[in-house]
Amino acid sequence: MSPADTARMTIGGHAVDSPDRFVVIDPATEEPIGFAPDCQPETLAGAVAAAEQAFPVWRADDDARCDALRACAAMLLSEARTIAPLLTAEQGKPLASAHLEVVAAATWLSYYADLESEPTTLRDTPDSRVEVRRRPLGVVGAITPWNWPLVLATWKIAPALRAGNTMVLKPSPFTPLSTLKMIEILNAGLPAGVLNSVSGLEPLGARLVDHPAVRKISFTGSTATGQKVASAAAHQIKRVTLELGGNDPAIVLPDAEPEAVAEAIFWSAFENSGQTCVAIKRVYVHESIHDELVELLAHLASSVPVGPGCDPGVRLGPVSNRPQLDRVVELVDDAVAAGGAAVAGGGRRPGRGYFFAPTIITGIDNGVRLVDEEQFGPALPIIKYRHTEDAIARANGTSFGLGASIWTSDPVAAVPIAEQLEAGMTWINQHAAVTPDQPFAGVKSSGLGVENGPWGLDEFTDIHVLSRTTLAAAEQQRQAIASAAQQLSTGTAGATS
Ligand code: NAD
Repeated sequence: MSPADTARMTIGGHAVDSPDRFVVIDPATEEPIGFAPDCQPETLAGAVAAAEQAFPVWRADDDARCDALRACAAMLLSEARTIAPLLTAEQGKPLASAHLEVVAAATWLSYYADLESEPTTLRDTPDSRVEVRRRPLGVVGAITPWNWPLVLATWKIAPALRAGNTMVLKPSPFTPLSTLKMIEILNAGLPAGVLNSVSGLEPLGARLVDHPAVRKISFTGSTATGQKVASAAAHQIKRVTLELGGNDPAIVLPDAEPEAVAEAIFWSAFENSGQTCVAIKRVYVHESIHDELVELLAHLASSVPVGPGCDPGVRLGPVSNRPQLDRVVELVDDAVAAGGAAVAGGGRRPGRGYFFAPTIITGIDNGVRLVDEEQFGPALPIIKYRHTEDAIARANGTSFGLGASIWTSDPVAAVPIAEQLEAGMTWINQHAAVTPDQPFAGVKSSGLGVENGPWGLDEFTDIHVLSRTTLAAAEQQRQAIASAAQQLSTGTAGATS
């Protein structure tokens, strides 16, 4: 590998390098696989200026934007075989999952290309009309994490561009290569400057947030970083959407069939090696079926093929980066020290790579870090409960509120329980059933604002009320208000004559 293997940023439609670079590591081998440019302040300023320059023309023609997004979706799909291996190499996920991620990213682009969006008409008379319209904001700064880098980028790119904004996007320094490549590919379908990428180590993200010409920050990442972004954006009353951490509970009711739910619960927790904001991160199981479900989950954890994502047949790759691996080790060690039992896995896999054996832990409860905090890795605590109200209280007993699920043979009867869970999304008999048309939003410290669906489009706009009337109708309205006020002050309001 040499500096010639450096990926390029795309700024104003051009491939851009930087004299400073940082290395990208394959988590399956711990070997370097390439470099990415470490964007310097003047280059970031150039990216924002390119986006500002592209904005007036881009915002003017909605049909052109729809066509461009459709073309982008097609180009992305046609390049899936280029991007997916890059994603697997830097992120660790199995190649089949990387392909699925590229397909999902294209799906979001197509969805927003086809979304119908009309102004709301509040009043329409021969003399006056009041419309609520939506206007693009200008330059949007997008900041993404390393777990689902491509699809989470298109959750921002697709609605922001469709609404008429332009963008500067910064991927995580752990997984910059696939995003830089994707943005290079998408640029073939877009006017220069509409979609720009910058890569780099901190303080690049903080500088993007601080840039005065950036009108909104759409951020996905940890709650701790989200707090910093919100606080920095507040100085300029900058709009923010914050999709933050989760600690999703699953409650398994006594009427659930362990055999019927085990596999779905397992994959809802372990897909992407547990590194999904909206993964199941703790399971509350009724005591009558606890032992049977634990045994099934432990069997699945012990038998799932784990290895480098590029190896055929592998279902779980390594933890994506060293700091995250260290965190998972720390939380599992802490759980065992607190009296927990690892009935499957329990530690790092020997040899090279950031592999952690899929782990099922029993015998712990709320109050232990593995239950209270977001582990974001392949280690799942299973907690026994007796009374449903107690399970609900414990499920609600963290600061997070992203997703939640209930598992039962009577989905209708579970609705009143779902209504009590403090989450932005509650599923019954599935988890993380995310589609482009549904709102995706956390409550409590899991976030602020919404992604996806028409709600996600609105987040990239300001409201503009357009109210027109004739002078005569305006005068009539003024007189009606004055007369009502007069009646109120003289006590004749509502009196009949
Ligand atoms: P992170 O907060 O460490 O980093 C996220 C992004 O912010 C990265 O691009 C990073 O470089 C950048 N960044 C770091 N410091 C910054 C600063 N001061 N200002 C601006 N940007 C800064 O998160 P991560 O470790 O990359 O991702 C994992 C976290 O993301 C987990 O907590 C997970 O739950 C969360 N996540 C949430 C969602 C959601 O939709 N709610 C989706 C995926 C991941």
